[in-house]
Amino acid sequence: MENRKFGKTDLTPSILGFGMMRLKKREDGSIDEQWAIETLRSAIDRGLSYVDTAYAYGDSERVTGLCLRDGYREKVTLATKMPVSMLKCEEDFERILDEELQRLQTDHIDVYLLHALSDERWENYVVKYNVLAHMEKAKREGKIRHIGFSFHDSYDSFIRILDAYDGWEFCQIMLNYQDVNYQAGIAGLEEAHKRGLAVVIMEPLRGGALANVPEDVAALLPRGVVESALDFLWNMPQVNVVLSGMSTTEQVEQNLSYAEKAHAGMLTAEEVHSMLMAGNKMRMRISVPCTGCSYCNVCPNGIAIPDIFAMFNRAQLDGDGVRARTEYQALGERNQSGCIECGACVAACPQHINIPEELKKVHKRWGAK
Ligand code: SF4
Ligand code: SF4
Repeated sequence: MENRKFGKTDLTPSILGFGMMRLKKREDGSIDEQWAIETLRSAIDRGLSYVDTAYAYGDSERVTGLCLRDGYREKVTLATKMPVSMLKCEEDFERILDEELQRLQTDHIDVYLLHALSDERWENYVVKYNVLAHMEKAKREGKIRHIGFSFHDSYDSFIRILDAYDGWEFCQIMLNYQDVNYQAGIAGLEEAHKRGLAVVIMEPLRGGALANVPEDVAALLPRGVVESALDFLWNMPQVNVVLSGMSTTEQVEQNLSYAEKAHAGMLTAEEVHSMLMAGNKMRMRISVPCTGCSYCNVCPNGIAIPDIFAMFNRAQLDGDGVRARTEYQALGERNQSGCIECGACVAACPQHINIPEELKKVHKRWGAK
């Protein structure tokens, strides 16, 4: 598998990274630890060397720590993230970082990210709690090796955050063939690369939506639907690592086999153009830009927000509104009209979706019997 030089650092991780956010779950909802250990180690044995987790991914950091025992920690570039929106005071930075090191059973994080930055988080957390100074101190102490951020806001916000600190060594942005002009987009990828930053890509399949596209979209793709989506990114030399949040053994096997064949410049200009046309078709049919990340699972009424938006988008894509409407109505009254507009989900959503408004639209379309 190809390894690309990680910006100005001395790291050269593999082009496929294992996203530890969507690990396989047991029936009780807990992570299947045995599966995670066996699967991640086998991927590392095949050349995967970038592992991405976060404090905010539930039990993921602890399980990642288990996976990387027995000598596997030294074989990977380990990435995790500071949940800046959870900071309540300056001291929280060190407390949370130390907790992360303990969960991950390591004495240092190779690449450390401020999680899901936006203009709002920059002002209300990073600046307010002097986060950059604490992060530099952690770097001097050897707890973290390289400093970066993950990002969910507009391109202009991305540039403001790049400009605000000259210590960035890498960034993590959302990019796929459907979202080339969304958030940082390809323009952000190019700008970060120009400044010498390594770029890690998240949501290459848009939360799985690009793994299951309508026939007219699939016909525009040069290879299979998943392989094409990943190749679109690996084709660009500015991309260092593409993260995939794998949750089945089959997905891991497939993605490893695609990565083993991939290299920069592998697509022709015609193939890239055709994929951009496919992305246009997808964009025109998607109603809600939800990636299914589940960060909005903070609803006091337990509304299944990602499930509802997945049904709604799916109905636009495959035209089967009758089935989707039946599924929606089967979710029951609480899911359909339990929103009290408290705003908790909106504050958590990295895609900045006005969730209560979108839920109203779904209900208007499908709520009436
Ligand atoms: S705004 Fe509505 S959907 Fe969102 S957390 Fe509050 S009650 Fe739940
Ligand atoms: S609504 Fe937002 S937070 Fe919730 S799953 Fe979708 S993208 Fe994630």
